[in-house]
Amino acid sequence: METLVVHGGAGVDPQTGAVVEPIIMSTTFERDPDGGHSRGYFYSKAGNPNQSSLERTVATLERGAGGVAYASGSAAVLAALSIAGQGGHVLVPDDVFQGTIRLLRLSLSRWGIRFSTVDMTDSAAVRTALEPDTRLVWAEGLSNPLLKVTDIAQVAEIAHEHGALCAVDNTFVTPVFQQPVRAGADFVLHSATKYLAGHADVLAGVLVVAETSLLDQLRTLQWIEGATPSPFDCWLTARGLKTLPVRMHAHADHAAEVAAFLEQHPAIDWVRYPGRPSHPQHELAKEVMSGFGGILSFTIRGGADIATRVAARTRYFVNATSFGAPESLIQHVASAPTHGSGHLPDNVLRLSVGLEHPDDLIADLDQALDVVTQRA
Ligand SMILES: *Cc1c(COP(=O)(O)O)cnc(C)c1O
Repeated sequence: METLVVHGGAGVDPQTGAVVEPIIMSTTFERDPDGGHSRGYFYSKAGNPNQSSLERTVATLERGAGGVAYASGSAAVLAALSIAGQGGHVLVPDDVFQGTIRLLRLSLSRWGIRFSTVDMTDSAAVRTALEPDTRLVWAEGLSNPLLKVTDIAQVAEIAHEHGALCAVDNTFVTPVFQQPVRAGADFVLHSATKYLAGHADVLAGVLVVAETSLLDQLRTLQWIEGATPSPFDCWLTARGLKTLPVRMHAHADHAAEVAAFLEQHPAIDWVRYPGRPSHPQHELAKEVMSGFGGILSFTIRGGADIATRVAARTRYFVNATSFGAPESLIQHVASAPTHGSGHLPDNVLRLSVGLEHPDDLIADLDQALDVVTQRA
């Protein structure tokens, strides 16, 4: 994978010898004398060279047959959900990413797509929740913010027995630690805004298909709907991808150290990190993923007020939403604008553990937690 991300894109530019792919900003492309477009492009809304090389790399990483890049992760989620079609029903996890719920509730409902939620980690409940019109079963390898682990192979099998398709939002786990297509998923999608681009400076999404049958339709819809990423954003994402495996291993190593520190801290109630034996699904996590990611959640001894003060006191952990950046981030979940009306305790803090030295991150949390133990 380390080799693939470095060499899987455009390669050396044949015209100039540039080792790094050039950015092609042109929106329009010359036709052949006979009126054709033998060079593959005609108008950048329908694709451009930087988009193509990004799509190729992500599809290869995810073991898919092809991919379509979008202007945001949400646009990729929308494209995947709309596969259910009018009158179709989508089954999603009860703790699915809130943006996905909002798309189903506010946008797709207007096009006649229905949905319901289920505990996606409970196979009996998933079977019961299937409806005659269920066309898509949605899963996330790790959930937000409690890091529940879903057995993708099991969900894909249940979906297929029912004649439905299985889509996996792999934003949290990334192909470095799990490749859902190998577990039987039909679609894998990413908010590339997070780990794939990896530097908190670009919005992008990618949808990968296991087989080519729906690829042309997805490309056509993207062209006519216009949710196309800019060539520069594709270039930034492709650049970020070159270090994805290196970054993910560092994120995971640092998160493991931070989780171990928090677990023994007197200010902490509980810590959820799939790499810790204290995680209720640690054994499953070890079975289905080769690493445990860079995100963890914990509760402090105290209420929302103290949790908010902890988040305001950290120095390296920036008090901000999102994840997957080199900079560590801390978020008080219950008060975040992205948070839905979940049934979470109001003292949950989520960390996106970044690439700083873990000793500095631990020292930073240690001083911030003084407000809980009243040393500060
Ligand atoms: C952020 C996120 C999205 C949406 O991506 P955007 O790039 O913000 O539109 C979708 N799924 C998950 C799991 C996410 O974390």
